[in-house]
Amino acid sequence: MQVVRDPQAMQAMALAKRREGARIGVVPTMGFLHEGHLSLVRIAKAESDWVILTLFVNPTQFGPQEDLDRYPRDFERDCALCEAEGVDVVFAPETAAIYAPDHTVYVVEDVLTSGLCGASRPGHFRGVLTVVAKLFNLTLPDMAVFGEKDAQQIRVIRRMVRDMNFPVRIVGGPILREADGLAMSSRNKNLDAASRQKAPRLCQALCAARDACAAGERNPVALRHIVLDRLGDLAPGAVDYLELVDDETLEPLGEPLTRPALIALAVQFPGVRLIDNMRLNSFISE
Ligand code: AMP
Repeated sequence: MQVVRDPQAMQAMALAKRREGARIGVVPTMGFLHEGHLSLVRIAKAESDWVILTLFVNPTQFGPQEDLDRYPRDFERDCALCEAEGVDVVFAPETAAIYAPDHTVYVVEDVLTSGLCGASRPGHFRGVLTVVAKLFNLTLPDMAVFGEKDAQQIRVIRRMVRDMNFPVRIVGGPILREADGLAMSSRNKNLDAASRQKAPRLCQALCAARDACAAGERNPVALRHIVLDRLGDLAPGAVDYLELVDDETLEPLGEPLTRPALIALAVQFPGVRLIDNMRLNSFISE
């Protein structure tokens, strides 16, 4: 496994690989890897010949009051996990190598990013799309794997790829969870003991809504209430958002639910904001 720091060297290597006829798969991450990330590597390995995992804590997707400084990092451990998983290249550029001090060009999406995390994290998706576009240009992938954990993110990236004609196939990977249901996240490390104990309620609450939907509940207001009830003393103060939206367009859904829906929430714990989501697709016939 090679570790590449220099963007130009990365691009030259990727170009050479493509000229050999290799299909490149990329897994963009911010590091502090867990099983969720590794599951995406396995998808990339199954569907390509040469797998690049990018490790880059992207400052432009963090707001000024957010946790950029506290974001967990462990470069050595990440490299060992990648090596064990059969990753071919870890691309871990320095921030200064990615962003020129006077950079002025960004990628912006206006509609899918207007709600959910886009509403509560202004500028977040501009940072995400800009860095993903840059990483695609540097790693020249045939396919890229993103997790459904960040449901809005993968939809926004698909839209960028479609609207900007990137020759990259976007593949989604399912959410990997801890035994108690908590969605795996690098940020879980920063939860204090009391928050860690409460955090599985996000998943439990979403499961309750999913079960109610499976049993025939089609009223989004009722489904929201089921989630809020299960969140108990986390609601309402800590709940940043809780929305039932169209699974594809992310538009809010009216009653009754007649289209595949996504139920998504963000909850603020002390110093850590967690997100989770669940699809209600399988129960709702179009
Ligand atoms: P991050 O390092 O948190 O920016 O995540 C990098 C990639 O891993 C993104 O595509 C995430 O959606 C994905 N990811 C993060 N957590 C999980 C998880 N629990 N299960 C599946 N994919 C995940």
